[in-house]
Amino acid sequence: MKKPSGDDWLVPISQTELPFFNRVRAPRRQRCHPTASVRFARHMWRRLATYHRRGTQFAFERRSLNDEAGKMLTGGCLCGKVRYEVTGAPFHSTICHCVDCRRCAAAPLVAWFSVKRSEFRVVQGTIARFASSKPVLRTFCADCGTPLTYQHDDFPDEIDVTTCSLDAPDAVPPDDHTWASQRLPWLPISDGLPQYPHGRDKAAV
Ligand SMILES: [Zn+2]
Ligand SMILES: [Zn+2]
Repeated sequence: MKKPSGDDWLVPISQTELPFFNRVRAPRRQRCHPTASVRFARHMWRRLATYHRRGTQFAFERRSLNDEAGKMLTGGCLCGKVRYEVTGAPFHSTICHCVDCRRCAAAPLVAWFSVKRSEFRVVQGTIARFASSKPVLRTFCADCGTPLTYQHDDFPDEIDVTTCSLDAPDAVPPDDHTWASQRLPWLPISDGLPQYPHGRDKAAV
């Protein structure tokens, strides 16, 4: 068989074949220059496709939020050596202005939330303990010093956890301010939350 070369590849189109080639090529031209109705149909199709995509995305986000709500809270210290998990629902979420919390964290205030002691567990690292007063035990990372928990003998079934050691502190916003009587004067409170002069057992201001 002769190997094709050069002009052998070019096959001339006969006059009888030409209308057939034109018919075949005509729809292609239409796709390049669609009529107004075709353009409108495509426009609507794109919009529908966008809505569909967005709807799927919103559905996915809603599902993610639901998953978040049912998921346990996790947190840890600054250096990453201590990691903890919180199962169950947080309660008594507060911003404490007491002098001991201020000193402990070297910060003007400390946000805490409470959980049952059985619902808090350290899953990694070693925590150090310090009794800041006779009935109070505070824990922190032995390496970087991040304050982690607070336990009071009067509430043996509860443990307080520093909200800002959570991976997602947004998940547990504060309900009130406690020990507002010891608040630093240069730190005004304007969030409208109840303020307790001491603990939550006394009337709010
Ligand atoms: Zn640490
Ligand atoms: Zn405090």
